[in-house]
Amino acid sequence: MVACIFCKIAAGEIPSKKIYEDEDMFAFHDINPVRPVHFLLIPKRHVGSLYDVDASYQAVLGKMMIKAGDLARKQGLNDGFRTIVNTGKIGGQEVYHLHIHVMGGPEPVGPMVYRV
Ligand code: 5GP
Ligand code: ZN
Repeated sequence: MVACIFCKIAAGEIPSKKIYEDEDMFAFHDINPVRPVHFLLIPKRHVGSLYDVDASYQAVLGKMMIKAGDLARKQGLNDGFRTIVNTGKIGGQEVYHLHIHVMGGPEPVGPMVYRV
């Protein structure tokens, strides 16, 4: 999808602070980090969200879940981290290219969600 900002980042057309890349996925620091370490892990093949995936994404999503912990370790998140996948309007998704947020630092990230 040509207009997709994360497709352009994965293609190197928009600069990013890359931390990992292979044939299937791309990881880079969030431009507006909410914790001392905050990076995003995306599949290179465009898909809008978890709501849109089908079985053809099974392998890459599995690889991403495994790579998340490995990259977190390399970023020094040895006492844990938070992973978030926002989906759609209710989930608070802003960029419609599926991404896993990985965030952490010396302080606990806090409650999972606030009770409404
Ligand atoms: P979402 O709300 O869709 O789950 O999160 C989108 C994330 O992408 C946000 O945390 C935002 O800061 C990040 N982001 C948006 N545009 C860019 C960009 O051009 N470069 C980088 N590195 N991060 C971006
Ligand atoms: Zn995309």
